[in-house]
Amino acid sequence: MIRAAVFDVGECLVDETREYGIWADWLGIPRHTFASMFGAVIAQGRDYRETFEEFRPGFDLYEEREKRAAAGHPEIFGEEDLYPDVRDTFAALRADGLWLGIAGNQTVRAGQILRELFAADVDLIGTSDDWGASKPDRAFFDRVADAAPVEPAEILYVGDRVDNDLRPAVAVGMQTALVHRGPWATIQWSTTEALNSPTFRVESLLELSGLIRRFNEQGH
Ligand SMILES: [Mg+2]
Repeated sequence: MIRAAVFDVGECLVDETREYGIWADWLGIPRHTFASMFGAVIAQGRDYRETFEEFRPGFDLYEEREKRAAAGHPEIFGEEDLYPDVRDTFAALRADGLWLGIAGNQTVRAGQILRELFAADVDLIGTSDDWGASKPDRAFFDRVADAAPVEPAEILYVGDRVDNDLRPAVAVGMQTALVHRGPWATIQWSTTEALNSPTFRVESLLELSGLIRRFNEQGH
């Protein structure tokens, strides 16, 4: 049985187009060029943060975030940056009686924004910077498992990345859903692992309610 659903943030709930556009502007690089290099770095199996270093060697993301904020361009997302299926999905899964969480690699600042957006909609909001543990480390998923009032095998972790979401969630015994959007899922979608590893592969989060119901009816 799946009794809980826990969602990744970037490119699962939040469309990060605006945020990375601001980063390109901050670096003084055309947005199309920045996005192309971002995809190339992902396709090479590298950490996306190396994209910044391709343009500026020695770039320190944490330090630059502070500088950006001080210059009046803080990390930002809001209701208008949510993928359009998010609100209806939470409502549907709530009505289905699932325990709901949001847990991603995010800053403390992003955690505050998430609480403003979703405090009334979910049972848990946790970020890597709050927890001192980040994906894909096991400690991050152990925190999720500890917070949820069900067994790990009853938790569906929903994300857009094979490497950071699916693989480590499977390793702790969770069910997984891969959502087909954003740079990572678009690039990774046809890999063997993306095809075979997730419990569900979805084009929209709205598919989850029905898929979970069918999965549970089949007596898993
Ligand atoms: Mg993500």
